[in-house]
Amino acid sequence: MFGRAPKKSDNTRYYEILGVSKNASQVDLKKAYRRAAIKNHPDKGGDPEKFKELAQAYEVLSDPEKREIYDQYGEDALKEGMGGAAHDPFDIFQSFFGGNPFGAGGGSRGRRQRRGEDVVQPLKVSLEELYNGTSKKLSLSRNVLCSKCKGKGSKSGASMKCPGCQGSGMKVSIRHLGPSMIQQMQHPCNECKGTGETISDKDRCPQCRGEKVVHDKRVLEVVVEKGMQNKQKITFPGEADEAPDYITGDIVFILQQKDHPKFKRKGDDLFFEHTLPLTEALCGFQFALTHLDGRQLLIKSNPGEVVKPDQFKAINDEGMPMYQRPFMRGKLFIHFTVEFPDSLSAEQCKAVESVLPLRMQSQLTDMELDECEETTLHDVNMEEEMMRKQAQQAQEAYEEDEEMHGGAQRVQCAQQ
Ligand SMILES: [Zn+2]
Ligand SMILES: [Zn+2]
Repeated sequence: MFGRAPKKSDNTRYYEILGVSKNASQVDLKKAYRRAAIKNHPDKGGDPEKFKELAQAYEVLSDPEKREIYDQYGEDALKEGMGGAAHDPFDIFQSFFGGNPFGAGGGSRGRRQRRGEDVVQPLKVSLEELYNGTSKKLSLSRNVLCSKCKGKGSKSGASMKCPGCQGSGMKVSIRHLGPSMIQQMQHPCNECKGTGETISDKDRCPQCRGEKVVHDKRVLEVVVEKGMQNKQKITFPGEADEAPDYITGDIVFILQQKDHPKFKRKGDDLFFEHTLPLTEALCGFQFALTHLDGRQLLIKSNPGEVVKPDQFKAINDEGMPMYQRPFMRGKLFIHFTVEFPDSLSAEQCKAVESVLPLRMQSQLTDMELDECEETTLHDVNMEEEMMRKQAQQAQEAYEEDEEMHGGAQRVQCAQQ
């Protein structure tokens, strides 16, 4: 009738490992496991045994069927009987993060050579520097393989195979789940922290104390070439931290073009803002423009030419030098703003009228005038007008949305 007597003593350990109560929800379990797995990941210096235990505990408690058996009969019952998917602790970890727990680029587990992480660094440059080209010296400290032991960590140069894992860095444990079912668990070796080798205390390299790497300071010269673009990358291959059995990553600088007070850049073209008083726009102008290399360019209008507000003019071959073809250049655009006087006196109007032709449309007959309604022109701030319009549209869209929702609810009610 009773079958097996429940063993109350060993059905709480998995909950304790994860640090949750016995009635924790699946969401609580997942959160607790995720937090603990990050904290105890062997790659972050955590204890591999503890990591393995966490994965085991989570594997059981996250499966409602297994959890029920565990709650009733404890760990042993699971080992004896139940099948189900066998998980590697890393597979569970990966399913959370969708990636390789060993970091960028590397192979998954085992002893395949992995790639160290790239160091990515922004580098601010002025428009002048991108126009003229420059070089910047930057000092950096990084890990390099110890020169004394050539990254072996030992005086003799020999490292012993870790006895715990026979040098593989990983341990495999096998559990019997049933007569014909085996669960295989793979995890980093706890004796060598997954490196597969050990060094005896006497044989430790005195320079790196067995760490295999030492700190090194060096100066990198970053050459910013003429015409390089914002966000362009300058890569120093294999200059990131060195580590044994890792392919050294790159140091990558990403150019960040600083704003210039006078010039704007669009690709290889430059834009320059210039404001003309109305008289100069009508009667001609000339001014000196200081370029990004310090040259003074004389900018002047053609005789008799009138510049209209918002007009663009361009000078060929005075834009940015093109990257790797610095003898070729983009255009320099000048955007003109014309400053009008706020008001004119009656005499000034007469003087203007005497030289500028009046448009025919503005000549209305008395009869035409009689048929018109009088209006008043007000000053407006167009930006404010646009903003008010946008706010109004948003409000209307919201109200429409509300109406639709309300409508849908009514339909639902009618169906019930
Ligand atoms: Zn080992
Ligand atoms: Zn050394």
